[in-house]
Amino acid sequence: MLSLDMTNAYKSPQSAIALFSGGLDSLLAVKWMQKRGYKVYPVYFLTPYMPPARALQSAQNNGIDLIIRDISERHLEMMQGPTVTFGKHMNPCVDCHALMFKVAGEMLNELDAQYLISGEVVGQRPMSQRRDAMNRVGNLSGFKDLLVRPLSQLLLPDTLPIREGWVDRADMLQISGRGRYRQLEMAEELGITSFPSPAGGCLLTDRNYSMRLKDLMQYGQMDPMSLELLKYGRHFRLNEEIKLIIGRDEAENTKLEELKLDNYLIAKDCNGPLGVLNPFPRDPAILELAKSIFWHYHSKASNPGIAQILQGDDITDIVCRKANRETVLQYMIALYKQE
Ligand code: SF4
Repeated sequence: MLSLDMTNAYKSPQSAIALFSGGLDSLLAVKWMQKRGYKVYPVYFLTPYMPPARALQSAQNNGIDLIIRDISERHLEMMQGPTVTFGKHMNPCVDCHALMFKVAGEMLNELDAQYLISGEVVGQRPMSQRRDAMNRVGNLSGFKDLLVRPLSQLLLPDTLPIREGWVDRADMLQISGRGRYRQLEMAEELGITSFPSPAGGCLLTDRNYSMRLKDLMQYGQMDPMSLELLKYGRHFRLNEEIKLIIGRDEAENTKLEELKLDNYLIAKDCNGPLGVLNPFPRDPAILELAKSIFWHYHSKASNPGIAQILQGDDITDIVCRKANRETVLQYMIALYKQE
């Protein structure tokens, strides 16, 4: 919930919108500025690749009122052609940061805020936090002169909020590099005891997720449900239109079930993973292929065996014959193919 407390207890009448990912650096930037008396509106930008649980938990654990803004559509658009290349996987970090600053900049009027802050640290990330990349982020966002990076600002050119005295230079820091020592020290000073580990926030930095995303982009299937499905299971590309997804464990089977999809495959007389056809194949040969790959993952089932197709309330029994390992690997979308 957004606090409407407008007392004049703040150090400056101007306030900031903060990019908040939930990670330690953005947490520090927010807490540091708040502790020094600045009014800050932390905003979390929702995309299909950043499950929000991590940020929400981090905000809750640290008493942060978070504003959530869904930028999925604009992010997907940007992914079609980032101006700067992708990172190691499908992470266009420079364009992604720039987009977040851009949207935050567009929110300034709405929140009656005047400048933007982030937890970026010079030299911390090879792609987006090199000095030249940070400069590029600023340029691309269209709000370069309103950006303040409290953790590294003393190493960067002064921007309007500093020049105008909205933010006191004496409150700014000069942290740089990949080490985390100073940040951990600050966390202790600021009473931050709970924060997520640096890895694991963004799915675009995961190599297998990136492979699946690349496949989806290649076949022009970037609809919300196809994107949501990328988070779970093993993925198989059966032809340019049809994909098969098979849960890898109980938790993924449950997630897939919760999505209430149209075309599930389940074993009839034994336990085993759930399959999803997206969409359902009209070509009987493709359906046969899907069934055989699905049945391959039922190691204890008889061969052939009976499975079922669930389409809403309609249940159809089908006979499945197991595909061999080569066939399974041939259709699997993954960089390092594992059964
Ligand atoms: S890691 Fe992901 S969320 Fe973070 S800047 Fe890169 S693409 Fe964006």
